[in-house]
Amino acid sequence: MLNLIIFGPPGAGKGTQSAKLIERYHLVHISTGDIFREHIQNDTELGKKVKNIMASGQLVPDSITIEMLEHEVKKNPNAKGVIFDGFPRTVPQAEALDNFLQSMNQKVNIVVQLDVNEEELRTRIAERRKVSGRADDAEEKLMKRMDEYFNKTIHVLPYYEQQNIVTKVNGIGLIDDIFDQLCEAIDPLV
Ligand code: AMP
Repeated sequence: MLNLIIFGPPGAGKGTQSAKLIERYHLVHISTGDIFREHIQNDTELGKKVKNIMASGQLVPDSITIEMLEHEVKKNPNAKGVIFDGFPRTVPQAEALDNFLQSMNQKVNIVVQLDVNEEELRTRIAERRKVSGRADDAEEKLMKRMDEYFNKTIHVLPYYEQQNIVTKVNGIGLIDDIFDQLCEAIDPLV
C-alpha cells in the first residue's frame, strides 16, 4: 500500500501530475477540493456548509475536512495506494491523517513537493481562470487562497520533513520532465 501526498500551492500542478501518477501506479486519487466541489454541485448538506467558505478562498474547517477524508479512504478498502491531493492543508489535518492511517497499520510513505515560485503561480492561475470556471480562481479569491497556503499549509512541510519523507521537485518545466522526477522518487517504494 502506497500512501502518497502531492504537496504544493494552488497552481503548482498537483492535479496535472496526480492524473499521470494514478495511471502509472494505479492509485486512488483523493482530491479534497474535487470532492467538496462535487458536494456543492449536488447540493448536499456538506455542499451547503462549505459553499461560501470555498468561494471566498478560505480553508474549510479541519473537523469537516478530516471527517470527509476518512470517509473517502474507507470507501476504497482495496486500493493499491492513495494519492492525497490538497490534503493535509494544516498541521492538525496531518496529525489526524497519521493517526487514521496508523489505526489501519499504514503510514504516509512519501510527500512530493512541487516547488513553484509565486509569480509563476499567478500566471498559471490567470490562464486557468479562462477555462476552469472556478469561482475561487478570481483574483481576490486567489489572494486569499495564497494567504491560506503561506500562513497555514506551508507548516505541514516541516511536519513531514521531521519524518524524512519529503522529496522536493522543481515544478517549473515540461510536464513530462517533472513527472519523470516524481517517478524517480516513487519507483523505489513500489
Ligand atoms: P483545491 O481544489 O485543492 O485548490 O481546493 C479548493 C478549495 O477547497 C480550497 O481553497 C478550500 O476552500 C477547500 N479545501 C480543499 N481541500 C481542503 C483541505 N484539506 N482543508 C481545508 N479546505 C480545503
